[in-house]
Amino acid sequence: MSIDIIAVVGGGTMGNGIAHVAAQAGKQVRLIDLSDQVLEEAIVTIGKNLDRQVKKELIDRVERDATLARIQTANDLETGADGVDLVVEAVPEVPGLKYSIFEILDRVTGPDTILASNTSSISITEIAARTQRPDKVIGMHFMNPVPVMKLIEVIRGLATSDETTKVIFDLSEELGKTPVEVNDFPGFVSNRVLMPMINEAVFALMEGVAQPEAIDTVMKLGMNHPMGPLELADLIGLDTCLNILEVLHRELGDDRYRPCPLLRKYAAAGWLGRKSGRGFYEYS
Ligand code: NAD
Repeated sequence: MSIDIIAVVGGGTMGNGIAHVAAQAGKQVRLIDLSDQVLEEAIVTIGKNLDRQVKKELIDRVERDATLARIQTANDLETGADGVDLVVEAVPEVPGLKYSIFEILDRVTGPDTILASNTSSISITEIAARTQRPDKVIGMHFMNPVPVMKLIEVIRGLATSDETTKVIFDLSEELGKTPVEVNDFPGFVSNRVLMPMINEAVFALMEGVAQPEAIDTVMKLGMNHPMGPLELADLIGLDTCLNILEVLHRELGDDRYRPCPLLRKYAAAGWLGRKSGRGFYEYS
């Protein structure tokens, strides 16, 4: 099965990156969000990111313009997802929201359409159970920033078929990414390992062990990490980090995943990191 038309649901941090790489690989893309403002900003962001690629001579202006021309926007699922081969859902990490979107997608797309979620931690098996096609539901976990990062963590739910997995592996390679297959457990591999480290860094900050810059510098220079855990949390979004930790805590039932109260406080204040202009650091 070839994938030619892709709908991306959610035009935020991840959705606009996924639309970008899919369009750059020659796919027709429908970017869907409830908010017209988000859609306008997403197109501006994709344009800027493509300009950066032109400046670095990775692509020329013709390819830039052709990539943008392949992206259409829509603000409802019914029209946006009509007739597509694949949907990649990238709405906030809230289980009930994802379940309701998959219920709708199952109704409004053709029976052969593959439904993928970019979830960071929510069970693909549970999302798939909301549909009549659990064999065609899969996790396609892109990394942030999507145009730059090579990995796609491909998560098989309990019922995901070999055929669906193969289609998504082939597509990931077409997008210039490296797919890695993992099984469906909370947080998969990436966030099962990453989030406890970020959470511990926030506890260290809360307990006054060190300032944010010091915590990040220790991890960069001492452990050879390209970004410190607090900078990375700001990039991911503190609301997203909190949501993922809530899933790990609830689903694995172990207090070692308990979200740090300081992380809750920042998220409650709307200090979400880069996307809101303030998190552990300030951004202009
Ligand atoms: P975000 O908040 O930046 O964007 C989510 C978008 O979804 C918003 O623009 C919102 O308007 C839209 N939305 C909400 N409800 C909708 C609906 N019913 N229909 C259509 N659009 C709707 O979030 P994000 O950081 O892009 O995260 C999206 C998903 O990707 C989450 O599941 C997250 O866990 C996962 N993820 C995030 C990162 C990261 O670094 N941010 C990395 C990998 C995976």
